[in-house]
Amino acid sequence: MKRLLCLLAVWGLILGLAGCKNTKPVQKTVFAMDTVMDLQIWGADAEAAAERIASLLTDLDRTWSAAKEESLIGQLNRGKDIALTEEQSQLLTRVQQLSEHTSGAFDPQMLSVSRAWGFYEKEYRIPTEEEISLALSDPKWDLGAALKGYAGDRAVALLENSNVDCAILNLGGNIQTYGQKADKTPWQIGIQNPGGSDYVGILSVVGTCAVVTSGDYQRYFEKDGIRYHHIMDPETGCPADSGLASVTVICRNGLTADALSTALFVMGLEKGTELWRQSNDFEAVFITTEGEIYATAGAALSGCEYEVIDR
Ligand code: ADP
Ligand code: MG
Repeated sequence: MKRLLCLLAVWGLILGLAGCKNTKPVQKTVFAMDTVMDLQIWGADAEAAAERIASLLTDLDRTWSAAKEESLIGQLNRGKDIALTEEQSQLLTRVQQLSEHTSGAFDPQMLSVSRAWGFYEKEYRIPTEEEISLALSDPKWDLGAALKGYAGDRAVALLENSNVDCAILNLGGNIQTYGQKADKTPWQIGIQNPGGSDYVGILSVVGTCAVVTSGDYQRYFEKDGIRYHHIMDPETGCPADSGLASVTVICRNGLTADALSTALFVMGLEKGTELWRQSNDFEAVFITTEGEIYATAGAALSGCEYEVIDR
């Protein structure tokens, strides 16, 4: 519930800041991928596009949710030999490439580890060292860190083939914009304060773009005053402890943005900055557990004080 309230609060900000003027958008709320998704679409065929995106989201959830036994991924995890469509095998190839690209910090086969900590059954517990090493040696697919981003890309493809002007989709905290607002001003997206339900700053993005945040406040449990969150370090099998409270990635591609936000969160500020320097397809905003904000040179961040990371 806490998570839902936070998402709604930030979405409220986005609505206030981002609306296309002149016309009213079609709005639709969908519950998929274990979270609330809000669609806002402007244009002649916005209604039909919203319907199609809603069923796309439900379909992707049904196919790729590791929590659903009968999903494609559930069957793959049980070792069933299933023929994949080209699109499906492309997605699995791409997440594996993203894993290599991030030196394994994004690992799409961490299900057993997340399960050992109770994140799947939502029966949280601290596993023993033996349980952690057993889980690390049992790779099972979980696209939880990439699926909402991929859904954003698929939704964009659908919007490109519809008669709509522009759209902003909140896919459970992953923001996906499409096209240009009617008044030609950039989309304005609030970055949530990891320590509260307000926001620390505003990102401006132009055109079609994904803005994805991974944070230690999104899903967690507390025991003896210690917070155990849901982003696992594949090297230790424990919640990543890199000194970051959140990472926001801005990227034209949603899947890449999603995988990278998780990876950079695991890698921490220094290694994350290195990866950014070697890349040219994304920008990032890092917030440390001390509340310091760092933004890469190309991130259009305003409304807060921060240190710029240069090339
Ligand atoms: P959220 O899904 O809350 O927006 P993320 O995109 O960072 O946040 O994804 C976190 C989810 O990804 C976890 O709930 C888990 O299912 C899975 N996961 C956890 N650690 C990793 C990791 N290192 N690499 C890839 N997936 C992970
Ligand atoms: Mg992610």
